Amino acid sequence: MKFSEIPGQRETIGRLISTVKSERVSHAQLLTGPEGCGNLALALAYAQYVSCENRSGVDSCGTCKSCVKYEKMIHPDLHFVFPVIKKDTDPVSDKFIDKWREYAAVSPYFSLTKWLHYIGAGNAQGLIFTSEAAEILRKLTLKSYESDFKVMIIWLPEKMHQVTANKLLKLIEEPPEKTLFLLVSDEPDKIVPTIISRCQLVRIPSFSPSDLSSYLIEKFRIHKGRADDIARVSNGNIIRAIELCENEDSSFQDLDRFRSLMRYVWKKDVLSLIAWSEELSAIGREPQKRFLTFSLHLFRENLMMHLGQEKNGLVYLTGEEEAFSVNFHPFINEENINTFVEEFSLAHSHIEANGNAKIVFLDLALRLIGLFRR
Ligand SMILES: [Zn+2]
Repeated sequence: MKFSEIPGQRETIGRLISTVKSERVSHAQLLTGPEGCGNLALALAYAQYVSCENRSGVDSCGTCKSCVKYEKMIHPDLHFVFPVIKKDTDPVSDKFIDKWREYAAVSPYFSLTKWLHYIGAGNAQGLIFTSEAAEILRKLTLKSYESDFKVMIIWLPEKMHQVTANKLLKLIEEPPEKTLFLLVSDEPDKIVPTIISRCQLVRIPSFSPSDLSSYLIEKFRIHKGRADDIARVSNGNIIRAIELCENEDSSFQDLDRFRSLMRYVWKKDVLSLIAWSEELSAIGREPQKRFLTFSLHLFRENLMMHLGQEKNGLVYLTGEEEAFSVNFHPFINEENINTFVEEFSLAHSHIEANGNAKIVFLDLALRLIGLFRR
């Protein structure tokens, strides 16, 4: 992808381009920032820029032989390492490379959860397994085919098995010639410190709300007010912003469900609560988890509102949510917030562990009655 396709992050892009201009491309770089800062997109655009045969001072050309292959992520000198699941023996990234190209081509802004869902992980954990170590070594000892640089993009090195990390460390310490390692991380504090110390750090900030808003308007054809709302709520996290746009209807539904739950709890209307849990139990496990996560978000934001943080711009609610919270926030305070968070988190983990949804939700609802009574 070209730099120009990334909505914003001009400062970081400028820094990356200047390393090429001044011929000081560090052979191992760690691109990191808060989740949804676009680090994978930046790594892809940077790799394409470095390898472009006809780059300008601001971007890759997008049309040369190298760029065409980079756009499809099929360049023979471009290698990927990312978390996968164990389907048979020796799980390695290349067994999932077609899916990876398909998925990242649609949008380079996605979370590990989304990626794992795409490859049908179910409850399996995504990891960079020990079997990947031999693959990395094999790929990097190959001669480069077509360009000056061989590039290896490692997405989420924090998910790397210790044995693999040690092999990688050796490679970074004594790199094969003309090799560029781009590590793309959301949680650098979980990476082996010796690896970090060998990498040039590229810190990336969150997207600015105005850049994000313009992107949402163009991509989702939503009106400016709504786009501004979502950009603010997602706090510069482009992954979250996209999810909110895609789940536009479901977040209205979730607010509706939350509103009903609180109304029945307040009235101690057990019959309605039973009906409510039955309805929730029928929507499926992923939407159930989403509803619980949404509720946690509402509780936190209502506490912020209660603490008067609105004027400091620390409350991230959409118009609809805010309208509800104006009346709801007096009930949330520092005393009870932890119990609410615990109850909803507990329900979330029970759902995740395949607990009986009807029981989980009814149980949650009945406990809430006790909490509001205090
Ligand atoms: Zn090019």
